[in-house]
Amino acid sequence: MPELFDTHCHLSDERFCDDLDRVLASAAESGVTGFLVPGISLESSRKAAFLCETRAGVYAAAGIHPNEFDSDYPDDFADIAEILLRPRVIAVGETGLDFYRERTSAELQIKMFRNHIRLAESLGLTLVVHSRNAEREVLDILGNDVAVPVIMHCYTGPPDVALEAAQRGYYIGFAGPLTFRGNNRLRDLAGSLPPDKILIETDAPYLSPEPLRGRRNEPSNVKYMADTISAIWDRDPALTAETLMTNSLKALQLGPFQRTDLVYLLYGNIYMNITGRCSNRCRFCIKDRADGIGGYYLAHHGEPLEGRLESIIETLSPSMGEELVFCGYGEPTMRPELLRRLARKAAGRGFSVRLNTNGTCLSWLSREETVLLLEPFDAVSISLNTSCAEEYNTICRPADGNAWDRLMEFIELAGRLAFVSLTAVRYSGVEIESVEKLAKTLSLPLRIRG
Ligand code: SF4
Repeated sequence: MPELFDTHCHLSDERFCDDLDRVLASAAESGVTGFLVPGISLESSRKAAFLCETRAGVYAAAGIHPNEFDSDYPDDFADIAEILLRPRVIAVGETGLDFYRERTSAELQIKMFRNHIRLAESLGLTLVVHSRNAEREVLDILGNDVAVPVIMHCYTGPPDVALEAAQRGYYIGFAGPLTFRGNNRLRDLAGSLPPDKILIETDAPYLSPEPLRGRRNEPSNVKYMADTISAIWDRDPALTAETLMTNSLKALQLGPFQRTDLVYLLYGNIYMNITGRCSNRCRFCIKDRADGIGGYYLAHHGEPLEGRLESIIETLSPSMGEELVFCGYGEPTMRPELLRRLARKAAGRGFSVRLNTNGTCLSWLSREETVLLLEPFDAVSISLNTSCAEEYNTICRPADGNAWDRLMEFIELAGRLAFVSLTAVRYSGVEIESVEKLAKTLSLPLRIRG
């Protein structure tokens, strides 16, 4: 059976409370393996984030629907931003403009839409846009150079705006109205769009497709939209499903198009993943076994842009975690200039700042450069892992054969500038008692992992 992705379904809606397991089982029977659950308020965004931690195939978006704002909602969006740092929260939305209901003033909607766009661009997340009676205005606000994928969800607006959106590279999502009898206008529009820009969704529990109109909608019904697209394209359903699935993964930056999580929440702290490079090749390195931890995708495909990382810092607030920890899926001091700049910026914004490092940067930095690098940090956590040079070279396999001496030097230097703690991984070939003894000699706390 071809796999389908429901790119917009409100599974956090209270109407699914009592039978969510049945709804998901029924979706699985229909071949639906992926679900994007949007937020329309702070509460529903939190629920969506919780759902994706507990249900397979579920991803979340966080945002506030244009008609759900109070005029006193804070501009910094800290609550929504905090949700966006959780695992499997991959998009910002619903956001946009709704001039049909007019529950919120146009002025406030536009301001909040801009805030959502800024958030999505800072964090590199897909933007899920709602527009009703405001499609042209939405396009004007988005401009021509949004740096993230844009989804015009449940599109029913003017064809010329959809065509322009598709030309800009945005994705157009079609829900139940695509199947309604008499809605040839929307089917003609779908047929005129580039196939690689079309998505399908249910918008459940709303907008049940033909022949189920009037009933509560659910993700298993996304097959009706897939069938309709298949008929419009006059293409085999399996091939149609394949194209639609590829479009969904591209639009949501999943699967082969996976986006790296550059910032994430873990153990009550905020982590910034600034590089994939490392000076060591530790035998126990997680990079050799997994693409990430804690539900986050941390592997890098090329180094993250400096501007991206700087704008992330501006999005974060100290209330989101106890410490801001600079790390990498690699060794953060391999980007010393950037690391120092980011840490200074974070310290200036009131964060308690920690560095997680393998402690060998004196292999490529001078003592003076290292002192400057450490200046903004309140704490430094150093991977010790072994108790002597020979063991270090065998287990951690540093590029520099004298890395152990540099590590010892770094521990001493860092101890004068910040609070230092050590870590070690329990690994065969490592005499952990000797590592404990060394930490004691250095009078530093040691945390043993694994
Ligand atoms: S120092 Fe860390 S990132 Fe580098 S190889 Fe060792 S475990 Fe991996």
